[in-house]
Amino acid sequence: MRWEGNRESDNVEDRRSGGGGGFIGGRSIGIGTIVVALIGWGVFGINPLTTIGVLSGGGAPQVQQGPAQRPPQGDREAAFVSTVLASTEDVWAQVFQQGGAQYRQPKLVLYRGATPTACGTGQSAMGPFYCPGDQKVYLDMDFFDTMSRQLGAPGEFARAYVIAHEVGHHVQTLLGTTGKVDGMRGRVSQREQNALSVRLELQADCYAGIWAHHSQQAKNWLEQGDIESAVNAAEQIGDDALQRQQTGTVRPDAFTHGSSAQRVRWFTQGFKTGSVQGCNTFNAQSL
Ligand SMILES: [Zn+2]
Repeated sequence: MRWEGNRESDNVEDRRSGGGGGFIGGRSIGIGTIVVALIGWGVFGINPLTTIGVLSGGGAPQVQQGPAQRPPQGDREAAFVSTVLASTEDVWAQVFQQGGAQYRQPKLVLYRGATPTACGTGQSAMGPFYCPGDQKVYLDMDFFDTMSRQLGAPGEFARAYVIAHEVGHHVQTLLGTTGKVDGMRGRVSQREQNALSVRLELQADCYAGIWAHHSQQAKNWLEQGDIESAVNAAEQIGDDALQRQQTGTVRPDAFTHGSSAQRVRWFTQGFKTGSVQGCNTFNAQSL
């Protein structure tokens, strides 16, 4: 992926150097809560913090936050993230404009370990996530190493796909999809909730594909093997692949993100069509 030299986003908030958010009081979240929250979630879930918020008594933790900081010059990994984020801003501004709407850009927070969010305390063990409450994407870049080393998903474009997937959740929030799905939680069975979650996640994969389609048209920055590396990442983090890796068996009822084949299919669908209408996973007969 030839990304160097392209515009970088102003919306990256660097909280990695400490002083960004000290915790004062607030409710502690025990290991049990974390374990419960991580069950039924996978890699880059929409919002595991909702679960944690509920289990730990709700409410955002009391935190003292320093001013938002830009990443330092010469930080290549941060520059990559900023460049990909800027490209999602360009693509979605254009797509929204064509639909007669205005795109509101999300922030992206770089952090290490743990950080306060409007959805509760973010922990890097959760992987990257998006919080609808503050419309920010949270990313501990160590996850990229986990992808390469433990999940078998190396490659810059695979990382870009992860960012674009989280931005996809932001688009769903702006379009009201997230709100609709959240409104149904608690009124349907766990099994149905999981099924809704799968459709939401596959749509975010499809939106990541839309970004890939339009950014490639605008910049022609993909190199041979890039699409394959994103498709491979989608395969490696399918629920079936992760369940097999973690427990040795596959339980489709417990899927919250979709199988490997489904994730690949919807990313590819977005990439081929570049169209939001092509990403209606909620109306699809088969996923
Ligand atoms: Zn997701």
